[in-house]
Amino acid sequence: MEENRLFLVKICSDLRIQRLLWRPVTMIGFDEHGAVREVQLIEKTMIICDTCGARVAVTERDLDEGLPMGYALCDEECIIEVVCEDRRRRYFKHLIDGVEIFLDLLNDPETDFRVKLMDYAKTRADVAEFCRYYAKWLGEPIMERLKHEVNKVLEKAITCWDQQEVFNVMEGVL
Ligand SMILES: [Zn+2]
Repeated sequence: MEENRLFLVKICSDLRIQRLLWRPVTMIGFDEHGAVREVQLIEKTMIICDTCGARVAVTERDLDEGLPMGYALCDEECIIEVVCEDRRRRYFKHLIDGVEIFLDLLNDPETDFRVKLMDYAKTRADVAEFCRYYAKWLGEPIMERLKHEVNKVLEKAITCWDQQEVFNVMEGVL
């Protein structure tokens, strides 16, 4: 089965996402018997960051006018959240930097494999910590999925690495 992946899209680069974001909000009022009393469509006048409430750029023109880049956090089925440039950096960049440092280390032939394994454990712990911390703002389910996906990348990287190295380390330990 295909995995449902998470990805960040620049809103100004994707017309389909822009259309989805501009759809009006539907408010439905019920009476005391539970019957629909009124339906109101509320047009949006701006698109805001779901975590800080700042207005974000939807088009290139908005960017020219100085609004921060807006990103849509999506999976293959829906738009989960809108985040601004600042929050994107805070939430995602630190995480990605940590993973990149680990991958560079893994590919460095000069580094002892035990050091790599230690860094692997550390990076996994950092990812878990990061996701726990930001779950407060972004919500538990998203961060759980993000953690799962990052860990998958880490696991794949470490298992693809020359298996012989693992045996050498094991022998050294025994
Ligand atoms: Zn924001």
